[in-house]
Amino acid sequence: MALRRLCVIVLILISTVSFARTPARPALPEAPAECQINAVPDPLLDTVALRKVLNEEVCLQEARNLHAKYFPNPGPSVTRTIAGLHLHGDAEVLRLGTSILGTLPLPSALARAQHCPDMICTLTMIFGSEEGALRALVIAKREGIVPTISQRVFNLLKQDFASVSAFTGAEGVIWTTSELRVMEHAFRALPPSMRRMPRMQTIARVPAGTSMGARWMKDGNDFTVAVAQPLAAEWGSRTLLHELSHHLQGISISSGPKWTRFKELSGWERDPDWERKAQQNTPLGLAFRQSFGWNARKTDACFPSEYAKKNVWEDYADSATEYLMGTPDFAFKCPSKFRYFRDHVFPGFVVKPPVMDCNSDDAN
Ligand SMILES: [Zn+2]
Repeated sequence: MALRRLCVIVLILISTVSFARTPARPALPEAPAECQINAVPDPLLDTVALRKVLNEEVCLQEARNLHAKYFPNPGPSVTRTIAGLHLHGDAEVLRLGTSILGTLPLPSALARAQHCPDMICTLTMIFGSEEGALRALVIAKREGIVPTISQRVFNLLKQDFASVSAFTGAEGVIWTTSELRVMEHAFRALPPSMRRMPRMQTIARVPAGTSMGARWMKDGNDFTVAVAQPLAAEWGSRTLLHELSHHLQGISISSGPKWTRFKELSGWERDPDWERKAQQNTPLGLAFRQSFGWNARKTDACFPSEYAKKNVWEDYADSATEYLMGTPDFAFKCPSKFRYFRDHVFPGFVVKPPVMDCNSDDAN
C-alpha cells in the first residue's frame, strides 16, 4: 500500500540532463512539435510564415494518413446523443471520441461543437484543428490511452491542490494540436512492454501553475497521467516516458524479482526505523515521509539525474526514461542500470528516438 500511495502522490520534476554526444548511442533529433520540413529561404517572402504553413500541411497530411491506416473500414453509420450533441458516424469513432470527451466534458469545448453532425467535426472544433482531432483518435485506438479533455482528472487533482490558484475558477485545459503531435510521436516510439499496458487509461491536460509537471495517478480502478505543463518537444517525450515507466513498474514489476534486482543494483534499502523517523517534524522526517523509508545507502550508487536520488521509484522512472530516450552517456554513466533495462525490462527493444519528421512513415 505504501508503494501505491507513494506512486499516486509522486511529483515529477524532470531533471536537466546533459547530453554528451557520442557515436555510441543514437542522438536525439530535434523536437517533434514543429514537424520540420525544408523551407527554401526566399527574401521576397516571409520565410518563417511560409515554413509554418508548409509544416502544417505536411503534418495534417500525416495525420490523415495515420487515421486512414488505423480506421481503414468505417462501419455502418450509427447515431448517438453524447453530452447533448447529436452525432452520427462510425461506431468506433463515436466510442473513442466519447472517451476523449470524458465523463465530464468541458462546457466551453462542447459549446464550440454545437452544430457538428459527427465526431470528427466535434473533435476538430474542440481541438481547433482537424490534425489534432485525427491524432487524438489514432492515439486512443493505437495505444489504448485516451487523450482526454474531461474535467474528471482536473477534479481529482483539485482535491490535492485546493489551495492552488490555478485550480480555482478554471474549468480545465484542452490539448493543443502541437501537444497531440508530440504525444502521438512519443507513443509511437514506445517499446512493446509499454504499449497498451493494463489499466493505463487516459492522459489528461490540467492547468499549469502548480509545482508539478506531470503526475501518474489512480483514477478509480484505473490510472491516468495528468500533465500540468505544456507538453512540448523533448520535455514532452521525457515526461510521458517517465510517467509510463512508473506505471510499468507499479503494474508489472513491483512485486517480482525484477524489482528486487533493481533495488539491489541501485543500492536502495529501507530504513527499518523509518516510520518512527518519518514522524519527526524535521527536514529529515519529511524526507523519510516522502521516500517511505527508502534511502540510498551505497555511496557508489549511480543515478541518472538529481531527481532520481529522491527515492527508488523516481530512480526507476528516470533510469528507464534515460534508456528509452537513448541518452548517449547513460550506458557509460550507469552501466549496471543500462544493462538491467536492456536485458530484463526491454529485452530485444532497440532504442529508437521518437520520429520527429511528419514526412516519416508510421513505425507501426
Ligand atoms: Zn516520477
